[in-house]
Amino acid sequence: MFTFEPANYIENEAKDSVFFVIFDQSILSFSNENFIRPITQDELTWSFIEEKERHFLGYLNKQPCFVILSEKNQCELENSIFIDMRSALGRMPDQLFDVIARSIQIINWSKDHQFCGSCGSTMKKHDKERAMECSNCKGQLIYPRISPCVITLIYKDNEFLLAHNKNFPPNFYSTLAGFIEPGESVESALKREVKEEVNINIKNLEYFSSQAWPFPSQLMLGFYAEYDSGELKPDGEEIDDAQWFTVETMPVNIPPANISISGKLIENFINKI
Ligand SMILES: [Zn+2]
Repeated sequence: MFTFEPANYIENEAKDSVFFVIFDQSILSFSNENFIRPITQDELTWSFIEEKERHFLGYLNKQPCFVILSEKNQCELENSIFIDMRSALGRMPDQLFDVIARSIQIINWSKDHQFCGSCGSTMKKHDKERAMECSNCKGQLIYPRISPCVITLIYKDNEFLLAHNKNFPPNFYSTLAGFIEPGESVESALKREVKEEVNINIKNLEYFSSQAWPFPSQLMLGFYAEYDSGELKPDGEEIDDAQWFTVETMPVNIPPANISISGKLIENFINKI
């Protein structure tokens, strides 16, 4: 079991600190272990990792937990290997997912904010807050940005709607999703996305749950919605097929419930009918 208490600032590093290590879009893991885990201070010492950046994340099982950005994909620890973060998703316990999502987003945010967007001067890490500070503009602090997205499973009696995105592998179907645009409410975004992607109107929106999705910085807000009106017609640009399925006819390839909110929306619906 893992417990995680997020925090942005630590006075002194403790000996029992633990570390996730990231290089580019990959994370340090061990080929002889089933699950991703952070390394200890001792392991960090013997890894001879060339550290580029270090950010405090909070307390994992009461131990200070950091993410380290490595200069190279080299680590001297036995059986260590950097694996692509997306393929790492299936290899982490639920409680660690949020911590790792936090690690990835903080590293990417730091990488993308080395210079001020207003004046072009260099930015530096703020001493106490999770913010980048411009060396020139007074008080210009940039906090990590999160992009809210809506994701929904639409149903019509016992049938539910799944769609195939052009970028998906063949025969892989999922729920509809999209970014919330500036000025939109969550509800309007949901209705607009569904109308744009499959040409139908929805009603009775019901919040399900949310999930941080760090590719690069989405917050997925999951909803159920009931079909209201309109003829089902994929937009042909993003979505090339959309169909009503039942438990008996559902596609074999859908998102797994253990790592994605899309899979959880489907699993929970099926369990209820
Ligand atoms: Zn500036």
